[in-house]
Amino acid sequence: MNLPESFKNRMRDVLGSEYDDFIASFDKPSVKGIRINTQKVGPSCYEDIAASVTGEVRRVPWTSCGFYTDSEASGKDPYYHAGVFYPQDPSAMLPAQIIAAKPGEFILDLCAAPGGKACRIGEDLKGEGLLVANEINAERSKALNRNIERSGITNCVILNESPDRIAERLPGFFDKILIDAPCSGEGMFRRDPRAVKSWQDYGPEQISKVQHEILEQAVLALRPGGEIVYSTCTFAEIEDELMIETFLNDHKEFVIVPHPEISEISHKQIGPAKDSMRIWPHKCEGDGHFCVHLKSTAAEVDRDFDIRPRPSTGSIANKIIVKVIDMLKEVLDQDYLDAFRIRLNASVLIQGAGIYLMPVNIKLFDRLKVVKSGLFIGEVKETRTERIFVPSNSLPLTLTAEMVRDDSLIILGRDDDMLNRYLKGETIVIDPNAHPAVKRRGYVLITADGYPLGFGKINNGMIKNMYPKAWRLL
Ligand code: SAM
Repeated sequence: MNLPESFKNRMRDVLGSEYDDFIASFDKPSVKGIRINTQKVGPSCYEDIAASVTGEVRRVPWTSCGFYTDSEASGKDPYYHAGVFYPQDPSAMLPAQIIAAKPGEFILDLCAAPGGKACRIGEDLKGEGLLVANEINAERSKALNRNIERSGITNCVILNESPDRIAERLPGFFDKILIDAPCSGEGMFRRDPRAVKSWQDYGPEQISKVQHEILEQAVLALRPGGEIVYSTCTFAEIEDELMIETFLNDHKEFVIVPHPEISEISHKQIGPAKDSMRIWPHKCEGDGHFCVHLKSTAAEVDRDFDIRPRPSTGSIANKIIVKVIDMLKEVLDQDYLDAFRIRLNASVLIQGAGIYLMPVNIKLFDRLKVVKSGLFIGEVKETRTERIFVPSNSLPLTLTAEMVRDDSLIILGRDDDMLNRYLKGETIVIDPNAHPAVKRRGYVLITADGYPLGFGKINNGMIKNMYPKAWRLL
């Protein structure tokens, strides 16, 4: 591979006797992987799913839910559309494993699009606590939104903001912050030759100033005693170890948390950035990543914010809630319907025609650019005669088969051509004899082996497709 001379010279100095192996690694194909959704799938099923997607079971050693694959996973696979797995570069799986999100935590992903790491964090939160997924680039925030929806995450607010504006609005708010920083992308060289061009236009020196600023803003948004995971996909020390050395010199209250349990990666042994982690392409099966886990040793302080959601109220809100529940009655089992009703009453947010479940008081984000105020459950639409509730497709992706009434649950095999047709937006017809429990009229949930894909409206076996136009397979 044709690599810039200045890059090669720098790496020769850094790597010494390892240099030839390092450079030779750029002529090998890039490493591919899939990550299993930790919210939708239990750990005992990870290997079966991986085998069914990739045809083999080869675990990525530095994460609990990642697997290698030789060939690109198919974007047509219904399991992909159901959010069961996400194609991801195995190296990029490390930071979200290190941040180890726990239900109830408030976590900010400052540089989130397209969302591979944000989705893992959101899945690990299991609907409790808050994920704020931020992306400064408005166009990229659309892909982030789509990936968060597909993953079935219920408690995520998506922002399109600069780190300084978030820090100013929410000082000391987050328990943990991920900075998967914009970087010179040297670890992307073998994956995407365009990365070399962008490195030449915008190299390590320049981008390191941006990274430094993002880290400083993250400190302001972090709760005292909180944690920051900083990562890049580059090999330039100025963006990695040297960045962290400067940070630790400037912020004496931070220490590095070592992760000796993570095998096969390189743990730096010396200098202030000791215990930072690297995935080297010539030493392990990954294109390259740097990651460090920082913890503030400052005394913990409670968050001084009014976080409780303030639901929309009034007669319009009440009527909308009734319509939402009327629709969901057709689909959800009674216990889950009751639980949903409680959540709806406690956290419904009506913004124009859109209806959301907000994970926290949405006023916290006033004056910030909010792309998504939580779980988008649907819209109110006017027909000629009435107002109706039309559910979003984010909603079914947050369900599991056990939440759904037997007469609304349509389980199709992953290889069934009907699923392919459903994902293309076609009307599908089921044989009532093959699905004797399914009702004759009304809302049904279409699933691939029980993993929800979306709603449809059945009438005597014929299912009107409700899969959103923008999501359909071509
Ligand atoms: N974490 C993402 C994932 O797992 O899919 C990848 C993030 S990518 C390495 C870095 C992101 O930082 C890009 O989406 C880019 O738009 C964003 N970015 C660029 N400049 C930024 C800045 N000054 N502040 C915050 N984010 C920035």
